[in-house]
Amino acid sequence: MHVHLSPGGAPRALALLGGQGIKHLVNLSGGSPGRGLEEQMAEARRFPGRISVFCNADFREARTPGYGKRMAKTLEQSKAMGAIGLKIPKGLGLGYEGPDGKLLPVDDPGLDPLWKRAGELHMPVAIHTGDPKAFWLPANMLNERWDELQVHQGWSFYGAPVSWQQLFDAFERLVARHPKTIFIGVHFGNDPEDPERVGQLLAKYPNLYIDTAARVPEIGRQDAAHAQAKVRALFERFQDRILFGTDAGIGAEAEDLMLGSSGADPPTPAEVTRFFDATWRYFETDQRGFEHPTPIQGRWKIDGIGLPPAVLAKVYAGNAVRLLGIPIAP
Ligand SMILES: [Zn+2]
Repeated sequence: MHVHLSPGGAPRALALLGGQGIKHLVNLSGGSPGRGLEEQMAEARRFPGRISVFCNADFREARTPGYGKRMAKTLEQSKAMGAIGLKIPKGLGLGYEGPDGKLLPVDDPGLDPLWKRAGELHMPVAIHTGDPKAFWLPANMLNERWDELQVHQGWSFYGAPVSWQQLFDAFERLVARHPKTIFIGVHFGNDPEDPERVGQLLAKYPNLYIDTAARVPEIGRQDAAHAQAKVRALFERFQDRILFGTDAGIGAEAEDLMLGSSGADPPTPAEVTRFFDATWRYFETDQRGFEHPTPIQGRWKIDGIGLPPAVLAKVYAGNAVRLLGIPIAP
């Protein structure tokens, strides 16, 4: 469900992920018309049936009034070019500015025409809001994500004008306000640290789906909120609305490889192996206390949830095939 391909990265991505049994990739970094989408669609077409593309919105538009309607028009154009969905990065709520120069909230009413049009065009909106809660705490050695924050200093939102909770509440209001638009809350519904809360949202909003991209370290974490039985029950209850994703970022060159979260250097072959092995082990076994897929994303261990084969089949592929109309080659 969730990869980021840079131009020229498709052959490497298909080889790497294909080697793991993944037959189809959904590239969430399609760009917008005149800003990458032409190239990304051309590359996807070189590999028929293997790559689908989500477009992005150009949020520079939001600095001029009337942006919602213009962005809705561009979305139509993107769909005509072959994009099947829209991906919204975490910049919405944390960085993009409106016409008044102020931060655009996640549920900004000016964007309503865009969400409405996405629903009418049957284009799911994959949306990333917020980030791990530790990114809002002081970035020092007491922070449980210190390894990651040292490498990515721009990921610290300590002292940011908007809190984690404000962002998440706005995300919920957005999903509630557009029941005819499908939203895919990436990174486990944008709250992998509180699966119970994610379950409440899934129960309340039938238009909400979630993906697992880059959050196996959180959802597998050994603590009370993430007890195997609880998380497995969530997957079983919402087995039709959870989509498997890796968040792999892949470009043309060997060093253009990001798995979940990048370190200072590209991952070593051993780290690539660990990433996939720990991912499959998490979903497919109930082994306990093993290393999670991404060394940099917190120094804790995880427990597997050993999903039944029928649920696994839906999460790994079936749900994406149904929701996105992906043609799967035999
Ligand atoms: Zn991503």
